[in-house]
Order: sequence, then C-alpha cells, then structure tokens
Amino acid sequence: MTTLISDTMNQRLNEQITNELHAEHSYLAMSCTLDEMGLRVLSRWFRQHAAEERTHAFKILDYIHEVGGCVTLGAIACPESKFDSAKAIAESAMQHELAVTAQINDLMGLAVSEKDYASQSFLQWFVDEQVEEVSVVRDLLELLDLAGDKGILYVESRVAKMLGK
Ligand code: MG
Repeated sequence: MTTLISDTMNQRLNEQITNELHAEHSYLAMSCTLDEMGLRVLSRWFRQHAAEERTHAFKILDYIHEVGGCVTLGAIACPESKFDSAKAIAESAMQHELAVTAQINDLMGLAVSEKDYASQSFLQWFVDEQVEEVSVVRDLLELLDLAGDKGILYVESRVAKMLGK
C-alpha cells in the first residue's frame, strides 16, 4: 500500500495513540477519586478532560489511515489512582500534560528530521493543543493554591461556572 509516512513515524504515532489513551485512563481514575472525595464538579471536569484525550487518540488513528499507514494498538498501563487531595491530583495532571508535551515535541522533531511536511502540519495542532492543556491545568492548580484546603468548595463553584453549569 502507498503510504505517505515512514515506518518509524507510523510506529511512533501508534505509540502516541496509546499515550493519549493512557492519559484518558489516568484522568478517568482521577475523576473517580474526586467523586469519592465528594468533589462532584472537579470530578466532572476531569471526566470531560478524559473524553478529550480520547478524541486526541482518534485524531491520530484517523491520520494514520488517511496517509495509508497501519494502526496497531498497544496495552494501556494501569493508571495511578491513589491521591490524598484534589491538589495532588492536579499536580499529577500537570506532570501528565508536561510528559505529553514532550512526546508531541519529539514527534514533531522526527517529522522535521524526516522532512515529513504532512506530519508536521498534522502535529502542529497537537503542539498548539498542548499549550492550551498546560495552561488550563496551571489555572486549576493556581485556583487550588489560592483557595487552600478550606476553600475547596469555592473551587467547586468556580469550576462549575467554567463548565457552564
Ligand atoms: Mg492529549
């Protein structure tokens, strides 16, 4: 079959599908823990975020097929699910986003080194998306810091407004 991407790029994009699905899995675990803490709004925020990660995985899957590549799905590792506080969860989310940002940058680096302009154009959306993702999680962390443990219900009401409910 005619394909527009290298075998290496195909393999690395396949790995990124798994990375995005792992992010979904992780955010879903965080959402469940928050729900069990009684923080229903933050739980909803993380569930929404989990769903977004799934759309990222599908976007890559569709691109691989569009350029004539082959999708191979990998195993999704068990997510971390033991957290002491909403703050610990938000900090873990930030580590996830920084890790995904590094993965996307590595992919873009590969596309540049291979002079793969189609993948560079495709990956630019993810570069921009990561700027947004890190910014959104930073906002949440700042809000949690400002409110402190006693202000957690204030955080819930602020996030509820952000979610439009
Ligand atoms: Mg993502």
